[in-house]
Amino acid sequence: MKYAVGIDIGGTFIKGALVSANGEIVKREKSPTGVEFGVEGIESRIETVFRTLKNSDVIGVGIGVAGMVNFSRGVVVQSPNIPSWKNYEAKDRLKKRLGIEVVIDNDANLAALGEGWKGSGIGLKNFMMITLGTGIGAGIILGGKLWHGDTGRAGEFGHVVVEPNGAECGCGGKGCVERYASADGIRRLAREAGIVADVPELVKMADDGDNKAIRVFEEAGRKLGLALSAWFNIMDV
Ligand SMILES: [Zn+2]
Repeated sequence: MKYAVGIDIGGTFIKGALVSANGEIVKREKSPTGVEFGVEGIESRIETVFRTLKNSDVIGVGIGVAGMVNFSRGVVVQSPNIPSWKNYEAKDRLKKRLGIEVVIDNDANLAALGEGWKGSGIGLKNFMMITLGTGIGAGIILGGKLWHGDTGRAGEFGHVVVEPNGAECGCGGKGCVERYASADGIRRLAREAGIVADVPELVKMADDGDNKAIRVFEEAGRKLGLALSAWFNIMDV
């Protein structure tokens, strides 16, 4: 059977898996990303994860990273987690280094492909997969295929504006849904309400009936709903 290695590059960890052609994960490996060691340092850690996982039937490596990726050229335009990856020619450099075919794309895009293949998108031709984490990302599947858009930036759902003149966002805009409904956004809303807590603690507080914590989640949910309603009305999915 053929295998592939899947690698997720996060700001803290590089997580890899050896996956069979029918989608079974047979081995996992993890390494600190080493963002502080720059391009070379991260590449050597990717190589170590790859070499630990690979077997003789591996035909390629798929890499996901948060941020803007030009899929057809295999170039990371910019990544919020990895400042040294600016116009980083990931595909060419890693193909040479690992000696195997490499594809690289935005992590939420690849998550959407994964959900379509093995997860909650099975059997759906059109859907959007939203990742709610530190930020908010999305991957869009239309007609059974990943939609990259003209410049590879499709699915930047986190930057849909839900509050004109709202909280400033790292993208340069204001009032993006990410500033309200991501983990960072929820923590920010909580701070404004006078609570300094991480999201799991806030969930527990809300479950225990804390009115301030409940209002934080109501606000996050309302903003997420606003952004989603635009998507459903336009896309009819
Ligand atoms: Zn934004």
